[in-house]
Amino acid sequence: MRKSRKLDVACPNKNCRVHKKIGLRNIIRFGSQPNGTQRYRCTDCKRTFARTINTPFFHKHLSKKEIIHICKLLSEKTSFRAIARITSHHLDTIRSIASAIAEHCKKFNEYFVTELNLTPIEVDEMWSFVKKKKKIV
Ligand SMILES: [Zn+2]
Repeated sequence: MRKSRKLDVACPNKNCRVHKKIGLRNIIRFGSQPNGTQRYRCTDCKRTFARTINTPFFHKHLSKKEIIHICKLLSEKTSFRAIARITSHHLDTIRSIASAIAEHCKKFNEYFVTELNLTPIEVDEMWSFVKKKKKIV
């Protein structure tokens, strides 16, 4: 068998026999993308996918480091235009990253509401609790 098999990555293909199952040694490294993102291949269904699939980093040209930097600026309530000036990226790039992050946060909230049977108010309270904890630490 070629190369080391990844144990912490699962196949994202919904039709695959081992969909979302980790630790089965069915994922192998399969080259990388121009921005350095690792690609993987499932040996079961032969599908290839990026390391960043189902994350806000997916389908973005910028490196992970740059996206994290933009996230930090966004959390400081920096305006989109200011971020575009600081990072010297186009305003539309910043908007696209912001909407990807927003979409991901929405999914995260939906998970709490549907899977854990919390009400949206409870989720809000949980986040404000997390924020308070952060301030203390
Ligand atoms: Zn598969």
